Amino acid sequence: MNRSGSVGVGKMLTDGGRGVAVGEKVDGGHLVTLIPGDGIGTEVIDAAVLAIEATGARILWERMEAGLKVFQSGDDSGVPQSTRDSIARSGVVFKGPLETPVGYGQKSANVTLRKLFETFGNIRPTRELPGIVTPFSGRGIDLVVVRENLEDLYASIEYMQTPTVAQGLKVISRLGSEKIIRLAFEVARSEGFTTLHCATKSNIMKITEALFKRTFEDVAKEYPDIQAKHIIIDNLAHQLAMRPEQFEVVVTTNLHGDIISDLAAGLVGGLGFAPSVNIGSQVAIFECVHGSAPDIAGQDKANPTAALLTGVMMLRHLGEMERAETLENALLFTLEQQKVRTGDVRSEGRVVGTRAFAEEICANLGKSPVKFARRSSAGKLVVPTLSGPKVGGSETVSRSDVGIDVYVEDSVRTPAELGGLLAECARSNGYRLALISNRGAVVYPPTGAMTDCVDWYRCRFIKLQSDGSAISNESIFALLQSISGVGRWMHVERLLELDGAAAYTKAQGEG
Ligand code: NAD
Repeated sequence: MNRSGSVGVGKMLTDGGRGVAVGEKVDGGHLVTLIPGDGIGTEVIDAAVLAIEATGARILWERMEAGLKVFQSGDDSGVPQSTRDSIARSGVVFKGPLETPVGYGQKSANVTLRKLFETFGNIRPTRELPGIVTPFSGRGIDLVVVRENLEDLYASIEYMQTPTVAQGLKVISRLGSEKIIRLAFEVARSEGFTTLHCATKSNIMKITEALFKRTFEDVAKEYPDIQAKHIIIDNLAHQLAMRPEQFEVVVTTNLHGDIISDLAAGLVGGLGFAPSVNIGSQVAIFECVHGSAPDIAGQDKANPTAALLTGVMMLRHLGEMERAETLENALLFTLEQQKVRTGDVRSEGRVVGTRAFAEEICANLGKSPVKFARRSSAGKLVVPTLSGPKVGGSETVSRSDVGIDVYVEDSVRTPAELGGLLAECARSNGYRLALISNRGAVVYPPTGAMTDCVDWYRCRFIKLQSDGSAISNESIFALLQSISGVGRWMHVERLLELDGAAAYTKAQGEG
């Protein structure tokens, strides 16, 4: 990932008045914010820094804190202002894993960093490595998962709707989808790949996941050199276990990507070998996929390979292509030789500690793997800089209100009793009660479904004599007032038609 000409070049961030362009060399070196993190973080990051510096790369590390200690000091974000300022100055972060204490109210410091710096894309390459024997060895696995990093269920918008029913919002935007999909096409180009799979569950989530798929189909028209294919996410999981070598680049939404990229890492030896970057148009956060591994922390047992591979990605991003190649070759040579290994790797080699493994790599700088066929290094990655939807756009869409869904709590009545009362509310306010559903299935009018009802009913009110114009606030308030006499309402959703098509899902059993 070459920074020059691609990521935020010439863009100035708030830099305390020093006038340094993000990614620019400072005093002849690259300014990088270094966050060792928690648990094994310090061990693997220090090992990687040792090897990166041994390549001759001149990096000015700004060592900063985030994670557990920061939470414990009373900062609920886990990311102090001084660390935020450093990242805004450097635009490049090399970080270890951060622990999120299990407790109420504290957000993951990792997620906070991603959101703060709009690092919308998570790129996780997975390549077969020499000397790392897995059931898939010899298949030539070489794929990249590009995961949307900010939206989806990770938007962390969740509510207890009733004392027994929790709800989370899955948020997918055209902008967020387009950014990640364009990034994935650019990854394919920069890596010299010709196929991009988009993995969704659009067959079930016909609004959210379908928006992602539709955006993929629209953007694909601009990349005729890349074969664009759609795959259902569960089939992707199946295919990855059966024939992983068929994939080159996979783009997907946040939660799917989280799971699938860990699965992919497992195919080539596990989390100890999985590098990644969280990338945006102005900031790139390089980190291992693995966590802080509290079970082996402080014992000099951690495998630094993921951190080293992450370092290789960072060097490319900084434009240090030759040094990246030198480091990658030395690592591949060391793995191939199997003279030394860390304890998590099954091979003939002598078990050494984290630091000693990195020292062996330093000693092997200048050497290349003998048998292992290494694909030539990545080219320049262009990170798309979009600030508004490019494909389509709300100005071209006609919209009309059809009605509203009102969510009502009731733990006492039967659906038929509730339906009778709400139908009367609808009639007296110019609406028709089209249905009531519970846990996604229509329970009124009765359909014969054997639904175990909970105290959370979705009640669909369709406006009578709608001329397609917006439903007035007065009309909604009057209906809600009337519903309040029957039960407690929790929230309201507008039922829209966009360009004449329903922009809401139907319940199971709805005609
Ligand atoms: P983990 O990745 O820390 O550990 C899972 C298993 O893999 C453990 O047995 C561990 O010993 C082993 N392992 C992981 N990395 C290794 C390495 N480099 N060498 C050898 N063995 C390694 O996952 P976890 O236990 O679920 O999470 C521990 C903590 O890390 C949690 O607080 C979690 O929130 C955090 N975490 C942070 C990040 C991040 O900062 N990006 C990612 C994942 C988990």
